[in-house]
Amino acid sequence: MKIAIFPGSFDPFTCGHKDIVRQSLSLFDKLIIAVGYNSSKRGFLTVEDRVEVIENSISDLKREGANVEVISYTGLTIDACANYGASFIVRGVRGTADFEMESVIAQANKKINPNISTLFLTASLEYSYISSTIVRDIVLNGGDPKGFICEGIDIRKYLK
Ligand code: ADP
Repeated sequence: MKIAIFPGSFDPFTCGHKDIVRQSLSLFDKLIIAVGYNSSKRGFLTVEDRVEVIENSISDLKREGANVEVISYTGLTIDACANYGASFIVRGVRGTADFEMESVIAQANKKINPNISTLFLTASLEYSYISSTIVRDIVLNGGDPKGFICEGIDIRKYLK
C-alpha cells in the first residue's frame, strides 16, 4: 500500500492545500494530512481547531470514498512517517521560493531516512497565489476569506 504524508502547519487549511490533497489522492492508496505541532509557536488556530477545519474541508472527498486521514504530530516529520507507515512525503510548490526551501528540507530528510521520498506537486494556477498567511491577514483585518478557504468553513468562529 502506497501511503503518503502531507505535512504542514495548515494555519488555516486553504483551497491551495485541498488542491494538493486532491492531486495526492490520485497518486497514493492512502493520504495522511499531518498538522505539525510546534509548542513554542502560538498559532492563529489551535492544533485541534486546525484538525477540525481540515476534517470539514475534506468531508466531500471522504464521502466520495477517499482514503484520507487527518492527524497532528510533534517532532520530526520523518518520524511521523515511520509511525504511520508512510514512504512518501508530499509538499506543494507554488514557485521557485517554495522549491528552494523545500529541496533543502527534502535532502535533509533523505539523509536521515533514505527509505522515504519527498514528492513536490505543482500548485494549480488558480490557487498558486493562496497562502495561509494571506488568509490570516484577511480574517484578522475583518475581511472575508471566501475563495481562499473551502466552502462552508467559517474560520472566524475559531478565533479566540
Ligand atoms: P508549512 O508551515 O509546513 O510550510 P503550510 O501549511 O504553509 O505549512 O503549507 C503546507 C504545504 O502546502 C507546503 O508544502 C506548502 O508549500 C503547500 N502549499 C501552501 N499553499 C499552497 C497553495 N496555494 N498551493 C499549493 N501548495 C500550497
